[in-house]
Amino acid sequence: MVASDDVRSHTAIHVLKGAVVYVLGRGAKWSASAYSQGLHGGLTVQFDRKPTNEEMQRIEGAANQKIREDISTEVHEVARDDAEARWGDDIYDLFPLPAELKVVKVFHLPDWNVNTCGKQHCARTGEVGGIKIEKWRYRANKQLLEMSFDVTG
Ligand SMILES: [Zn+2]
Repeated sequence: MVASDDVRSHTAIHVLKGAVVYVLGRGAKWSASAYSQGLHGGLTVQFDRKPTNEEMQRIEGAANQKIREDISTEVHEVARDDAEARWGDDIYDLFPLPAELKVVKVFHLPDWNVNTCGKQHCARTGEVGGIKIEKWRYRANKQLLEMSFDVTG
């Protein structure tokens, strides 16, 4: 089955997030927001300084490398306690999950990205096609790095 544009652009958020942490380090691991629709998406992460243009190019390159590797995506439906024991707070974003949620769906790209997520995903990263960071800006007063991207290919 061919993944829809919506599924591709949503999966791209996870791939891009992994690239952000790969290039900028674990200080960039907290997502403040994410959205996607059609072939377009956006991701905002907390970070303590403005990245350089070179770093942003490396992020785009690393994301596309992970797409070319065409690795399998995984979704685990597990007890929240077990997910926390395995991955710690890496599964979370700045926006909290309801406390009463005891079983969570965790999206996992091994050695790249892990996050609680109930949405639909591509089976393999290659289905995303490609990621082009359309624009980005750093909001120093909020310590937020905002990126918008297009899915290509
Ligand atoms: Zn997801």
